[in-house]
Amino acid sequence: MNKVFAVVGHPIEHSRSPELHHAFAEKLAIPLTYSKHLVPLDGFTQHVKAFFQTGGHGLNITVPFKEQAFALCDVLTERAKIAKAVNTLWMQNGTLHGDNTDGQGLVEAIQSLGWSLQNSKILILGAGGATRGVIYPLAAAGATEIVVANRTLERAEQLVQDLEQHVPHTRLRAVSLNALEGEFDLIINATSASLSGEALQLPAQLTFHHAYEMAYGKPSSFLEQAQQRHVPHSDGFGMLIGQAIESFYIWNGVKPKLADFLYLAPKA
Ligand code: NDP
Repeated sequence: MNKVFAVVGHPIEHSRSPELHHAFAEKLAIPLTYSKHLVPLDGFTQHVKAFFQTGGHGLNITVPFKEQAFALCDVLTERAKIAKAVNTLWMQNGTLHGDNTDGQGLVEAIQSLGWSLQNSKILILGAGGATRGVIYPLAAAGATEIVVANRTLERAEQLVQDLEQHVPHTRLRAVSLNALEGEFDLIINATSASLSGEALQLPAQLTFHHAYEMAYGKPSSFLEQAQQRHVPHSDGFGMLIGQAIESFYIWNGVKPKLADFLYLAPKA
């Protein structure tokens, strides 16, 4: 019998997770169905409970529900506990389990581009669920300094306070999105500004040598600005493949190879 999976978000139309999981399943001969669920902003918990009560096997969670998913779990992996955000859910012995595979997906995508994270200085724009998920894996991959810039400064400060004890060898600090300056090896856009069609303006006093946009499949003013500065840049499709591979592995016990699925990347 087909195992049943879905990705839950609001909005959700942009998600390519179903296509990826179906491609993994076909390649590895595992029968499954994977769909997109648009869930009302006040209906997340109810939706998750109903999904598993009716025999659902696993859920991916995207904007803006990852912190709610974290709060809902009975059992969490270490990296999900550190991130305080969950993008992968499954039931085991009647209890709800949660993991966060985003961070490892991002690290693998960046390394596959040939960009070194060793001794790097990184600026992350945004302090939501995705940023919480990537700090620990980026630090573990060798980042020596990570600056988190957010529109709502208090949210970035809270994130730094929560995570700094887990990354003792990395300098972690918070700044306002209005106060961007300095030189970074890598800038990562982890805001959802591009999903809502709003543009982020990167000031001239900010310099960076690589730019990674977590969103994918849509025009991004962040990537346009990187291109104008002749800086190597990438959208988040590699991260999507990476996190999907990790979720697939948790649910099915078999690990697809990232390189086998790069052909699914959106054409420029
Ligand atoms: P959250 O909703 O948890 O956080 C959104 C963040 O974006 C907050 O920091 C928010 O700031 C900021 N933000 C939203 N709108 C604006 C704006 N107009 N200007 C400036 N800042 C803004 O989202 P996630 O952290 O889960 O996801 C962030 C992005 O990463 C999304 O684009 C998502 O699609 C992408 N993503 C991609 C993945 C991939 O596999 N490629 C995996 C995970 C995420 P504030 O706190 O002030 O509201």
